This record gives sequence, structure tokens and C-alpha cells, in this order.
Amino acid sequence: MTAPFPMEGGCTCRAVRYAMQTAPLFVHCCHCTWCRRESGAAFALNAMIETDRLTLLCGSPERVATPSASGKGQRIARCPACRIALWSHYAGAGAKIAFLRVGTLDHAEAVPPDIHIFTSTRLPWVVLPEGVPAVAEYYRARDFWPPESLARRERLMASP
Ligand SMILES: [Zn+2]
Ligand SMILES: [Zn+2]
Repeated sequence: MTAPFPMEGGCTCRAVRYAMQTAPLFVHCCHCTWCRRESGAAFALNAMIETDRLTLLCGSPERVATPSASGKGQRIARCPACRIALWSHYAGAGAKIAFLRVGTLDHAEAVPPDIHIFTSTRLPWVVLPEGVPAVAEYYRARDFWPPESLARRERLMASP
């Protein structure tokens, strides 16, 4: 089996293509009402990755200021042509971390959720898998992230 990374992805019209260079830090399946509305589906799948590990292969996403649950807003990187959302930057982690929409990866099946969050507002017909952590709302990274992801995040936040 070939290594899944780097893995390419992109928007629907193919004007924007990118490569995710390594495995993500952690993958959220978010059942909050905000993600539901933004995705138009039952939940959002976001792979958190250092933004500098996303390489643009073609196109240039437009960053659209969008409200967020925290009130601090997010910037959603969208294809300037078809407007598909590719990733977000949230106020908390800033521009250094991208919340990549897993469904835009060419091999999304290789990037399953590490945790289900905001399950308190999960749609009742969504059945959660056994063996994957699930929390009613949010969580502390040190309680769930693998040590190497915590170390990666620490290095990232210490960098200028
Ligand atoms: Zn497009
Ligand atoms: Zn959410």
C-alpha cells in the first residue's frame, strides 16, 4: 500500500487544487448547528493541519469572512470560481492552522474522524461508531490528541 500523504484535493470546478503534505494533527467530526448550516449536511469533517503543510498546486482561494459560533468569526478559503469551501481559519488557532474540509480530499476515506464533537446537537438519525471518542460539546486537546500532534502544535505556536 502506498503512503496516503501527500494527498491532493480541490474544489468541484478544479480551478483550485492543493496537496496536504502530511497526516493532519487531528480530525473533527462536528455536529454543531453552525457546521450543519455551513455544510448543508448533518455534520462537518475538518482535518486540522499546519497551514504551511498545505501546498497550492493551482488556483488561489479567496478568504471569505464568515460568522462563527464564538462570535470572533472565521475566514473560509473558497474557490473564486465555484465557491466550494476548502478550509477555514478560526480566531482561536489563527492563520497557522487550517481546518481542511475532508470531503475535498481525493481520498477522504483515508482521513477518518478522530473525535465526534458537539454530539449534544447531533441529528437523531446519525449513528455514532463505537471506538471513536465522542464529546457533548468541545474538549481539551491534551485529553485526546496523540503526543506527536501536541508537539507539532507546540512547535507551530512557538514559531514566528
Ligand atoms: Zn472551483
Ligand atoms: Zn461545528
